[in-house]
Amino acid sequence: MFGRLAVEDGPVPRAPECARRPDHRTLTGILRTEKAMRVRVDPLVCEANAVCVGLAPEVFDLSDDDELEILRPDVPKGDADRVRHAVRSCPKAALTIEE
Ligand code: SF4
Repeated sequence: MFGRLAVEDGPVPRAPECARRPDHRTLTGILRTEKAMRVRVDPLVCEANAVCVGLAPEVFDLSDDDELEILRPDVPKGDADRVRHAVRSCPKAALTIEE
């Protein structure tokens, strides 16, 4: 009724090698983590009250014309938490973050 499975002699076939490097996912994760975040201001919404300047002066500044200048749009990782806090604290919601 049931026949026996035929077993061929020779090496067991291996699965094809993955084209990706073995550490691909890890490397991608590291690159994603290290990527700087980017902060932008909507100049039509900003009222130049300098709340963000007070919280992260290395990233935000006011010009002589009372317009917000973003000194470092690509925020270094070390400043990310303070910049997030400044963005959340903007009373006009004029700042946005891209990550
Ligand atoms: S806190 Fe907001 S409204 Fe105030 S200067 Fe910064 S971006 Fe403009």
